[in-house]
Amino acid sequence: MNSHSLQTSIEFLKGVGPNRAQLLASELGIHCYQDLLHLFPNRYIDRTRFYKISEIQGSNAEIQIVGQITHIKTVSQKKGSRLVATFKDETGHMELVWFRGQKWIRENLKLTQPYVIFGRVNKFDNRFSMPHPEMELLSEYKTRIRKGMQPIYPSTEKLVNRGITNRVIIKLMEELFRQFQGQFDESLSDKIMSEANLIDKNKALINIHFPTNQELLTSSRYRLKFEELFYIQLQLVRKNLLHKTQIKGHNFAEIGTYLNTFFKEYLPFELTGAQKKVLKEIRHDLGSGAQMNRLLQGDVGSGKTIVAFMSMLIALDNGYQACLMAPTEILSVQHYQGLYNWCKSLNISIYLLTGSTKNSIRREIHQKLENGEIQLLVGTHALIEDKVKFKNLGLAVIDEQHRFGVAQRSRLWHKNTTPPHVLVMTATPIPRTLAMSVYGNLDLSVIDELPPGRKDIRTVHRTDASRLKVFRFLKEEIAKGRQVYVVYPLIQESEAMDYKDLMDGYESMVREFPLPNYQISIVHGQMKPADKDFEMSRFVKGETQIMVATTVIEVGVNVPNASVMVVESAERFGLSQLHQLRGRVGRGAEQSYCILMTGHKLTREAQTRLETMVRTNDGFEIAEVDLKLRGPGDVMGTQQSGVLALRIADLVQDEPILKLARSMAFQVLREDPGLKKVQNLPIRKTYQELSKFRNIWNYIS
Ligand code: ADP
Ligand code: MG
Repeated sequence: MNSHSLQTSIEFLKGVGPNRAQLLASELGIHCYQDLLHLFPNRYIDRTRFYKISEIQGSNAEIQIVGQITHIKTVSQKKGSRLVATFKDETGHMELVWFRGQKWIRENLKLTQPYVIFGRVNKFDNRFSMPHPEMELLSEYKTRIRKGMQPIYPSTEKLVNRGITNRVIIKLMEELFRQFQGQFDESLSDKIMSEANLIDKNKALINIHFPTNQELLTSSRYRLKFEELFYIQLQLVRKNLLHKTQIKGHNFAEIGTYLNTFFKEYLPFELTGAQKKVLKEIRHDLGSGAQMNRLLQGDVGSGKTIVAFMSMLIALDNGYQACLMAPTEILSVQHYQGLYNWCKSLNISIYLLTGSTKNSIRREIHQKLENGEIQLLVGTHALIEDKVKFKNLGLAVIDEQHRFGVAQRSRLWHKNTTPPHVLVMTATPIPRTLAMSVYGNLDLSVIDELPPGRKDIRTVHRTDASRLKVFRFLKEEIAKGRQVYVVYPLIQESEAMDYKDLMDGYESMVREFPLPNYQISIVHGQMKPADKDFEMSRFVKGETQIMVATTVIEVGVNVPNASVMVVESAERFGLSQLHQLRGRVGRGAEQSYCILMTGHKLTREAQTRLETMVRTNDGFEIAEVDLKLRGPGDVMGTQQSGVLALRIADLVQDEPILKLARSMAFQVLREDPGLKKVQNLPIRKTYQELSKFRNIWNYIS
């Protein structure tokens, strides 16, 4: 038996030592045996098949052959020389050629001993030759674990330069397997393995590194992907369940007068199926006795506000207060105005609190919150200042649009002994796989259906050549009484240049759309907030017909009369940004348009983004494309998440495995919350180890 554990420092593995250990740590994050074991190959070279020399086609494929060297000679050429060996098997002969390292090779090659050679075959002067073959004596080859497919490991230039080649990694891996004699502890329960149809750990590990055939490789990958996703989910699901069992919430058992009256008398339209479904989920949470911690995703315009309002009515019906927090002043004003009339009809006292609320009113609000006179408070982050104390806050709704302020969320918590229920709303569609991985500890609701009769926004891609036509079109729309956005990119690195682009654009708009027929607003990041708000509100009120802006308008303004969104240099925007921008129009009854302006030269990726925007209005579909284009780490709202440092699973491809892993994690923890049952021992052990060590593969948040 070997005395090392998988947590032994990699330095002590035969063939490593302190120098290599340092390199492995800095280049590949390998600190201990286990890290090496979990360094999974990127790809494999299939060495399951041996070729005969007579079978060579000269197809330039990599092949392996068994044979012997009969002659070696040095051939001089224009520059220097090359070493040429004649290599033969029972069917014919060919040449092996070296341009570098000739002396060493000449001294070490053994004539008339069988070798396994591997490499790419060229046809040269009507003869087959293999330059710089990988060679190994047949006798040595036979002692190797690796016989079938050869793993190619992730590597870096530095590693290769310092002599840690793929071959060296293979040797280390073989050494590791030899030491442990292929005995690694099982980390899943028999039940999971049989239900998910997984092969056991040892078989999976040996075959992920040294697969004997494709089938075994496939089942090994499946097993290890499952395991990786399972343990991430186990963590998240455990948090979710702990939350539910340990954090008591107000129990809103009553469906009372407010909600009933609103539903019967004031509901302005029939709820969509998706809205009903989500309301049901929320109602269930509110009456469950545990604190709700729910994320509501719904594309722009999907009707999240009314769901929020009706949820707040449930809190009010049970004698509690509710608040709705939005990321900007304008948005909170819009929410306040939107809810005001309903509240008036229902005789609910609603107040607005933002950064610009006057001190006297602010004091009044503080007081009325504490004595419970205010039932519903709408506002910005001003809501969570320490001075703001609720009498009994029952539900906090946070409309984050596409921002995620996880830290701020929790501040509302400490205001009461029993925390309020929390509903976070976001208009950023996140692909399901990502949502499950990043927000897997929250409960997720999705409104995946737009209210009926909504016209799709017509999206087109135009280049500068059609600029005049575009202007003409804008004039027609404005003549019909509509309003227009023209948006310029703003990215930090080239702020000065962007500012110039914006100003140039503004000036050309002013020339093209002169006073007094046209009024233009301009909003950008270098303006004072008060000026911004002023310009913005002119546009909101319809006093200006054109809003020239940088991306600041992304954040949820609602101007139903605006029917055209022109995005300048659209190739510089990411997909989710484009989608958010487009969501600014299409809010009224009129047909709306989105015009994506670009130059002529576009990268492939930019082309795909534009095509996607033109093809579809579906935010989730767009988010899926975004995920494929950029990978999980860059998709909006997930940047800070370490969950995505996956070693083997892939959030784009492995959705079915992820779903299975999540449901099994729920199943295990529901049956055995403390993982105390004998059959769950392997899971418990692995889980505990994962929390102790900081392996990337063993990510635990
Ligand atoms: P968002 O999800 O972007 O916050 P809103 O809640 O602002 O969307 O709703 C967008 C618009 O759709 C609003 O004018 C709202 O009144 C309207 N709306 C919401 N739900 C429905 C529905 N079921 N039927 C018709 N119109 C609806
Ligand atoms: Mg909204």
